Amino acid sequence: MNLAMARPDIHDRIHAQRKLRLAQGRIRTRRSISRRDGVRLELDGRWLTGFCSNDYLGLSQQFEVIAALQDAAGREGAGSTASHLVCGHHSVHEQLEREMADWLGYPRALLFDSGFMANLAVQQALLSEETDICVQDRLNHASLLDASRLAGCRLRRYPHLDSEGAMRQLKNTADGAAMLVTDGVFSMDGDIAPLRSLSLVARMQEALFYVDDAHGIGVIGEHGRGCVADAGLGVKEVPLQLATLGKALGSHGAVVVGEDALIQHLAETARPYIYTTALPAAQAAASLAAVKLARRDHWRRDKLTELIASFREGARRNGLELMASETPIQPLLCGDEATVMALSATLEQSGFLVSAIRPPTVPEGKARLRVTLSALHTLEQVKALVDAIAKARDVVLYQKSLNTVA
Ligand SMILES: *Cc1c(COP(=O)(O)O)cnc(C)c1O
Repeated sequence: MNLAMARPDIHDRIHAQRKLRLAQGRIRTRRSISRRDGVRLELDGRWLTGFCSNDYLGLSQQFEVIAALQDAAGREGAGSTASHLVCGHHSVHEQLEREMADWLGYPRALLFDSGFMANLAVQQALLSEETDICVQDRLNHASLLDASRLAGCRLRRYPHLDSEGAMRQLKNTADGAAMLVTDGVFSMDGDIAPLRSLSLVARMQEALFYVDDAHGIGVIGEHGRGCVADAGLGVKEVPLQLATLGKALGSHGAVVVGEDALIQHLAETARPYIYTTALPAAQAAASLAAVKLARRDHWRRDKLTELIASFREGARRNGLELMASETPIQPLLCGDEATVMALSATLEQSGFLVSAIRPPTVPEGKARLRVTLSALHTLEQVKALVDAIAKARDVVLYQKSLNTVA
């Protein structure tokens, strides 16, 4: 036996990787919420005001949504019992697909168990040749980047929001079928992709344009129809679009809306669609109720607009470093990881839960507090948060100055 050829040991490898994460201060831990009441969360026996959920419209605890879930579970049971192509496809799934397609102005919709799986499905089903190319914004969601790996296509990235960069990448790879992919609202920055210019790039370069609007649906535009509709675009310019149901809609799952032929192809060939159990009918019923509320009521979006303006105004007055976001995602850049962790811990002591986002979720040196707002917050809560952040910043800066002196 040749010892030089010994196989790497997986246990040894993960041990070394964990040691490195420890040294970098990058251990991630889960916190268990024991109770939830609106934006208030009970954590380790203390009630905190949460500013980190994606429940932008506050629909996850809305009476009509919960009642729809309970009612459907009572009739249909807890699970769907099979995949969609076997016997798990229920008429309520069908109704939800029709409602989403109608709302977003697309011919057809297909329901997935999660946005992550929907993104895997789209590229796996449509970019099937090794010469195919997927051109993506550098800050796209992890599931979109992983999807290119699963599909086995070539992945090319362009600088954040840079349509000319997208154009160059597509021009350089004119030999393969191409898809141009971007987030609508970017999940960690809260800014919005330049969809009109990207759609022109896609048309000129004959690439299929796919927009993942996980954080825009329900929130952006007068009727909450998301970034694509708000940019005056539709199925002609953006033949496929992702809407998730677990964020502003407060439920769970995701829907891909698109041209009939594309959706048909996904339903017949996408492995993350075919080989998984359908969402429970009760979950689809909850989503359907949430979509109807998001379409009908404007007050939640109006309230969000007011809260966002108040937060930004307060942050500016206190000299906090805001990012270019008009959405409910309002990150505050902190730079180094120790600072963001100290800020988050200090805020928690003052009764606020705000998540610290660190690499590799965001680029190196771009650690941030990711503040998210919900229509359930009050103006007073938002003002109290801004005051608490300003105070926490002063405390953390003071501690840092002591450490540098010492
Ligand atoms: C959250 C998110 C997803 C994944 O959706 P899930 O339903 O949570 O799996 C996909 N894309 C973007 C941009 C997201 O923010």
